[in-house]
Amino acid sequence: MKKIGCIGLVILAISMLFLALEPISKAIALIGSQPLKGTVIAIDPGHGGYDPGARKSNVDEDLLNLQISLKLKEVLTAAGAMVIMTRDADYDLAPEAADNIKKADLKERAEVLNQDNITLFISIHGNISFDQSCHGAEAYYRINDENSKNLATAILNRLRPLTDSRFQPKKGDFYLLNQTTTLGVLIETGFLSNASDLKKLQDPQYQEDLAYGIYEGINDFLKILQ
Ligand SMILES: [Zn+2]
Repeated sequence: MKKIGCIGLVILAISMLFLALEPISKAIALIGSQPLKGTVIAIDPGHGGYDPGARKSNVDEDLLNLQISLKLKEVLTAAGAMVIMTRDADYDLAPEAADNIKKADLKERAEVLNQDNITLFISIHGNISFDQSCHGAEAYYRINDENSKNLATAILNRLRPLTDSRFQPKKGDFYLLNQTTTLGVLIETGFLSNASDLKKLQDPQYQEDLAYGIYEGINDFLKILQ
């Protein structure tokens, strides 16, 4: 009896381990089919270095952006994409002598994203609002760019159920969308100003789910283009 109980516990522990690793196993399962083979995807984790981005309850947006972006890199690489990162640690891209650090940082990022071998880019951010009930993901596209709008729509369609978002894709009047010609979108993964979003955004499991949702949206978009 005791032995059967132990086996039961071992099986339970193994199933719990698989449940905990689910998004990673999803990513590994993609390696076989390589649906993104031949694509080059740039990920831009917003802020970093001198600029922490939005800050709430001692949580900095730039760290969340980086954590989610590194998980996205893992999923996209498993899916066969070549991935370029504008940053992969806590630093900014502004040269030492820059007068306007913010502008210099964005200019350097735009230069990376404008490389002509890049299929598309995703800039990852976290949101903040005075209205603490605002929650869920948002997707911003380049003004007058139908492909960017379609990519934002495809990604948000995947993130809406996961993040309980009620937003529609929005026009993004942002430097990185205005000063680049590569297909790209800016994703706000959730609101640091919403208690539930803030808790979820720090959860590695949720970060992986977000990464997987973004991958699924990219894949949906590229399938329609084929
Ligand atoms: Zn931001």
